[in-house]
Amino acid sequence: MDKPALVAPAATPLPPRLVDDAVRQLVAKHGATHKARIEQGVAQVASLWRASDGDLAAFCLEHFTADAAARDRLFARFETALEQTDGHFLEIGRELRRASEVDVGPQLPVDQLFAGFEASAHLLDDLFTSKIAFVALLNFPLSTLDQRLAVGTKWSRLQWAQARLTGRFARRVPADVLRRAAEVQAKADQYIADYNLWMHHVLDERGQRVFPSGKRLISHWNLRDELKAQYAAGADGSNRQRVIVRLMERIVTQTIPLVVINNPRVDYDPFSNRVKAAPPDTVEQDAPAPSVVALDEGPEPSTRYAHLLAQFQAARAQDPYSPTMPNAIQRSFELGRELPEARVARLFHDVLESPLVAQVAAEVERRLGRPLEPQDLWYDGFKARSAIPEASLDERTRKKYPTADAYRHDMPRLLVGLGFTKDKARFLAEHILVDPSRGAGHAMQAARRGDFPRLRTRVEPGGMNYKGYNIAVHEMGHNVEQVFSLYGVDHTLLAGVPNSAFTEALAFVFQARDLELLGEKPKDAAAARREATLADFWATWEIAGVALVDVAVWHWLYDHPTATPEQLRDATVAIASDIWARHYQPVLGKAPSPLLGIYSHMVEYPLYLTDYPLGHLIALQIEEQLERAAKQGKRFGDEVERMATIGNIAPDLWMTQAAGGPVSAEPLLRATERALAALPPR
Ligand SMILES: [Zn+2]
Repeated sequence: MDKPALVAPAATPLPPRLVDDAVRQLVAKHGATHKARIEQGVAQVASLWRASDGDLAAFCLEHFTADAAARDRLFARFETALEQTDGHFLEIGRELRRASEVDVGPQLPVDQLFAGFEASAHLLDDLFTSKIAFVALLNFPLSTLDQRLAVGTKWSRLQWAQARLTGRFARRVPADVLRRAAEVQAKADQYIADYNLWMHHVLDERGQRVFPSGKRLISHWNLRDELKAQYAAGADGSNRQRVIVRLMERIVTQTIPLVVINNPRVDYDPFSNRVKAAPPDTVEQDAPAPSVVALDEGPEPSTRYAHLLAQFQAARAQDPYSPTMPNAIQRSFELGRELPEARVARLFHDVLESPLVAQVAAEVERRLGRPLEPQDLWYDGFKARSAIPEASLDERTRKKYPTADAYRHDMPRLLVGLGFTKDKARFLAEHILVDPSRGAGHAMQAARRGDFPRLRTRVEPGGMNYKGYNIAVHEMGHNVEQVFSLYGVDHTLLAGVPNSAFTEALAFVFQARDLELLGEKPKDAAAARREATLADFWATWEIAGVALVDVAVWHWLYDHPTATPEQLRDATVAIASDIWARHYQPVLGKAPSPLLGIYSHMVEYPLYLTDYPLGHLIALQIEEQLERAAKQGKRFGDEVERMATIGNIAPDLWMTQAAGGPVSAEPLLRATERALAALPPR
């Protein structure tokens, strides 16, 4: 890969004289009473104005709106116009991807090109060059997350909508800087997608083959899922899990021999780190072309960290063009999730440091019948057995839903069954269009009124199987939220929910009722709930540590921007080992390990992992609110509608309005406590 530029090209600031001059002329025209607004508006424009944009003062004189009523009209114009651009561009993209996403018969090679075409790619750039974005920045205040959190509780809905308007224009990153970031991202994708291990050739501590021929696993997803699946295989399973753990550690530390990656022609012992040619009769038929890497080439040369470093440099190159958020860590917390980093860290530590960790660990140990080891980070045994065999469920859903259209016709009944009034159910069903999906299924929002969210559901030739139905009910939950939050919200600039964790939580609540809607009562609902809570707690505990490693590595990068891949490797191993030593080592077998650094997201989608543990916490809070409302005799449908129309305000504010308090780990901790107490006596 090519070397990233170490120093980002800086955006050239305007001479202060031009800014002062514009302010002076505006104050002269509108009067000193508007001075504060003028100064702020001009500063916001100037921070992103380029010499090629022309005469700053002339632009400001023409477009500054002093009168409050006129400013409201200006805002309304923006809201209407952006609903149209957002909505229509979304429709263009949806229709260009239609042949790839919807089952409309055989695909053509050109469908892939249409699917990759992004009609709105230059929209933001164009809104700046046409100066539309600058009109917004001149007249409405930009805010930092701290400001939104400090005063946002007192804001009107209109002020929140205005914050969403200017928030879109807080950055003006040049197209070539974004293109560079996309290239780096694509290379990281490729690196991760090709990182496979041929498990028949990964040996255990005694040099034995313990995995079947042909098993090819991508790091880290398949490796982790294989590890989870091995819980069903007793002591042999534990042995295989130890092999996977050692392999993962070799990847994190980059001590894995280069020749092992994606190569079934060598046998590898991750314990001794020795590698030798595999006997020809063990090499799989579908093996890739022989590796050009020599047997004695040595370890992978920190390629994993070279990709991460390139991602960092590409993100850092955007810093000068984001004046209110000049740091990628800050952008990930302030733009996407709108929760301050320190607060998120505190939420995670509430889980990591909870005395419940030891109690749940003791329960895991009891179920496993052996002391815990590092692999039990991914313990997978909290499950309530389903009473009804899947085959009989398949039979019923196939008969009920031979086509996607059959599901569409049944939607009003399903929605009434969930607890919507007849009228609401009809309204919702009229606003959700159902398509047969090529993939497993998904929900696609609409972004302008007059357009409709889509429910894409997979229907096999013999009809919809139970898995497909289960997913369809989940996606329908997304669609319901999408309809309410677009058609029911007071400002379309506030349509949606604060972030994806919220919409997932609402969808899971629908999905959890899928058997009821088939007329089945789950055998032991209390046991199912208890096991799900314990599984949630363990998964949150696991992924919270992984997320902390991800963020800590980025802090290290900002402190060491000229680091080499090798230095980044050593730092990552040290950070992962340190977080392990503090929170996991005392629980999982007392051995040090860099295991928390294995997630591929760290390389492919940096700074994203934090959303997973947050999602667990948020989902539980929303579920509990719906339970509370049910106990108070409130209709499920009314409560979902109330939550979905709060819209895209800051997460803590949303949660306070939806469930009576900010985002918190407490509900998960209390639910875990209750689940532990309700375990059957032994
Ligand atoms: Zn979902």
